[in-house]
Amino acid sequence: MSTPVSRPTSEPDDGASRLDPPDPSAFRAVAHELLDACLDRLENARERPWRAPDDDVPGGGESPPREGVPIERVAEELVRDIMPSATGNTHPRFFGWVHGTGLASGLLAEMVAATMNSNCGGRRHGAIDVERRVIDWCARLHGMPEAAGGLVTSGTSLATLIALCAARVHVFGASVRRTGMVDASLRPRVYAADGAHQCVAKAMEVIGLGRDALVSVPIDPVSGSLSLAALDRAIAADRAAGLDPFCLVGTAGSVDIGRSDDLGALADAAARHGLWLHVDAAFGAWAVLAEPPWCDAVRDLGRADSVAFDFHKWPYVQYDAGAVLVRDARLLTDAFAGDAAYLSAEDEGLAAGEPWPCDLGIELSRGFRALKVWTALRAHGTEALGASITDNCRQAARLAALVEASPELELAAPVALNICCFALKESLTRDTDPDALHRAIAAHLQLSGECVLSTTRIGERLVLRAAIVNHRTTDADITLTVEAVCREARARLPLEAARSGRTDGNSFDATE
Ligand SMILES: *Cc1c(COP(=O)(O)O)cnc(C)c1O
Repeated sequence: MSTPVSRPTSEPDDGASRLDPPDPSAFRAVAHELLDACLDRLENARERPWRAPDDDVPGGGESPPREGVPIERVAEELVRDIMPSATGNTHPRFFGWVHGTGLASGLLAEMVAATMNSNCGGRRHGAIDVERRVIDWCARLHGMPEAAGGLVTSGTSLATLIALCAARVHVFGASVRRTGMVDASLRPRVYAADGAHQCVAKAMEVIGLGRDALVSVPIDPVSGSLSLAALDRAIAADRAAGLDPFCLVGTAGSVDIGRSDDLGALADAAARHGLWLHVDAAFGAWAVLAEPPWCDAVRDLGRADSVAFDFHKWPYVQYDAGAVLVRDARLLTDAFAGDAAYLSAEDEGLAAGEPWPCDLGIELSRGFRALKVWTALRAHGTEALGASITDNCRQAARLAALVEASPELELAAPVALNICCFALKESLTRDTDPDALHRAIAAHLQLSGECVLSTTRIGERLVLRAAIVNHRTTDADITLTVEAVCREARARLPLEAARSGRTDGNSFDATE
């Protein structure tokens, strides 16, 4: 029997909703079957690498459907046409960009969140209490003071925007909310190490500071952290020119190589210069759960005025979920509280529960993202999550060791955390276009389904990059990845170079 997704519009009004399932038990059967299909896919994640989507966009024709189809058919299309064309980051050898894997527990949280359909913009209900609890947990983990507060966001990009708004209002006063930065006497400057994530410049564009107000500070080659001497010089020069330094952005886990600034030194420098310290800790924040030495990267994260980080990268929570933390929660209210009459809070009833999240950030209507975070922490605890994070750091170190042992490959940057950048040995690629070679190898391995690496530029060189935020990766996956890259390198190098690579040292041996 086929179950119409909704009642025909012509059916007489019997008091039931047109859009709710007309036959609940039939709907239930379809839902159970779909859940099984989802669980099957998760259980077989190892057999489901990324595959290029079909040219035919799934999901019906070009015009929106005028009439619905039976829900069984929709469920079939979801499983057959939609689910297989995923990003591929559920696969154990997905190391491209910085893509988290997603937890089985998250599937349960998403079902419950969809059922509750809570609006976490405000008012008095339990979903907001769960979000506050998640934020408090994070503040505690990162050593922020009692007064700290924050929000669950769609990711680090939005969290950065919110943090810079708070910084701007705190440093330049509440009047900037009315006037913007039109006061010509204000020329704010923000400082960050070379290679800061583009979300910082984007946030500055959005709030009207403009990306030219971002000063790129060189990295000290010895410490690997933002050069404090260069920072002092840049600030002195800017002040002498009548500009207004107001914010220093530190990085814990840089997107290209996983490098971290010395956050304690940055906190001291920010205090010395009277700057707001914001830290982009998109994935690095979670090194807090790892074993030494990796956790040292974020030892002083709690000294920042604001921190932006993601749940959808390292603690493996489903997309999308990130957070902003601010040392003093009131600064978020200063930056964002509104006074619209239709949103006024009351002392009792559903309109109670101040402060409302909509007064701490940009969005009014907000989904219950915090539930999948709460579920991840409740189901696995910080110990198991931390053990997987430690594993990922060890795997990056293992990848680096295999690269260094291979006759074809060399490291392109030191491995500090979970990111390994590597390349074909320069001595082997002299007569070729190494950038094109690296691009071709990355694309070939993506298309073959063996592994996903992305590329980045280090100096002049385009290199291969593995960012490991994957709780399904095993050591064998790391070995397989290096093997596959070496094989593709040999196949593409001019015969002579490939041969000299092989006689250069022991050929890469996957059994070691
Ligand atoms: C991913 C990332 C961002 C941006 O985070 P989104 O959640 O994608 O918005 C910012 N900084 C770093 C270091 C990142 O890795």
